[in-house]
Amino acid sequence: MSVGEKGFIQLNIGGTVFCVQASSVKTFPSSLLSQLDTTHSSYNKAKDCYYFDQDPVSFRHVLNAYRNGELHVTRDVCPQQFRRDLEFWGLTLDLLAPCCWKYFYETMEDVETISKILATLSHPAHNQVGIINENKLGNTDRTNNCEKVKSTSKLYTFLEEPTSSLGAKIFCYLYMVLAVASISLVIISLEQWARVDSYIDPKTMSNYSIWDFSELEIAIIAQASGVSVKVLWFYLSDPALSVLVLDLSILTFFVIETVLHFCSCPDKKSYWRNTYNLVKITLILSTAVTLVFEMKKSLLNSDLRFIAYIFCKSLCVMRLLLVFRLRKLYRSLDILLLSMSNSVRELALLLFAFSVCIIIYGILISAAEVQKDTFDNIFNAMWWALITMTTIGYGDYFPTTSMGYLVGVLCAINGLIVLALPVAALASNFAKFYTHYGHFARMEAEINNKPNIEPSPGCTVEDLENKPD
Ligand SMILES: [Zn+2]
Repeated sequence: MSVGEKGFIQLNIGGTVFCVQASSVKTFPSSLLSQLDTTHSSYNKAKDCYYFDQDPVSFRHVLNAYRNGELHVTRDVCPQQFRRDLEFWGLTLDLLAPCCWKYFYETMEDVETISKILATLSHPAHNQVGIINENKLGNTDRTNNCEKVKSTSKLYTFLEEPTSSLGAKIFCYLYMVLAVASISLVIISLEQWARVDSYIDPKTMSNYSIWDFSELEIAIIAQASGVSVKVLWFYLSDPALSVLVLDLSILTFFVIETVLHFCSCPDKKSYWRNTYNLVKITLILSTAVTLVFEMKKSLLNSDLRFIAYIFCKSLCVMRLLLVFRLRKLYRSLDILLLSMSNSVRELALLLFAFSVCIIIYGILISAAEVQKDTFDNIFNAMWWALITMTTIGYGDYFPTTSMGYLVGVLCAINGLIVLALPVAALASNFAKFYTHYGHFARMEAEINNKPNIEPSPGCTVEDLENKPD
């Protein structure tokens, strides 16, 4: 160590000269400052000074850490930058004082959130997101990306990116209209007025027509067969031919779209990794199975097949999920999904807290009402606790004793608290993602408008100043 007059050492940090007491830099022996000596590459013998091309502002905080034994960060230093500077100076983050944790880690969380948004929105085939991604996250895989884009066929871009052309946008809206139409068909086909006499497979079905029976007779037959009137109606009738034809046409459209999309996809592995594609294929398969069963009801002769049929039919309602294709046009939908998938911890907390409370209040109310026999079993009591805690209160079960009322009061209040806390966390999560998405959108607009912002080569500072407002 070169110790100048009066035990001071001189440090030139990015142009600012610091005079530091030689003894104070010994506070952290493993740090860079305490290991400095005249053989160090940064030492300038002529000036008796160590030169480092580092930020002098954050070095001020580093020096303070040597004096006080703890790190503080002021708002004029970016925490991300400060972290890198600390690494350079050989100091560790455990020195950070609790008063500065919030500022420091909030920024870290912001960076994580933005990374997640960029990862969700980035796609090699189009727009500026990929470029922002590379610039902000230091991704150097650009040539690879470009090659991928080149190899992407026009058909794939047309099907995958509604923003790529006007035609693709119109196609996306057509897809949406058909998805909504197919959902409407599922709902309509369950209504009696949209059903006709069972006209398929007359061999196995009896020759009578369901329209020949009165409502009372149908009820009697249903009771005799051990099924509900609805199931009997359903079994003895079919969706009207027009409904069936429309459903088949829409299904054909979806099948063709899926086949073309899959065949034109340059990266088949990534196709299978996409949740939306998996949902789409599942829905198409379930619709196909449902249609086969509806065309040939004699196949429904076993319970297992009937359950499979009902399961597939229920899945058909999930066709509404196809609407999420719009997320490519309206990215905020993506942000909604992203914030939900990032709130798994909060949802798990909600579920856990609720389960514990339901069990506790279920047991308490059973004990309080034991004399009156209000609840047949513990599960009924737990059901009561759930309905009370969620402030629904159907009133199918209610306490009748003073102790029961007391438990009811506690259960209701507890429910409000348990429900409110994780919901607030969920809401703040969504707000966080949405705010950052707003910033991202501004950044993207900034990049798109860049050529307009830069002054033209012939434009001087005087020109800009003299420009009339
Ligand atoms: Zn502080």
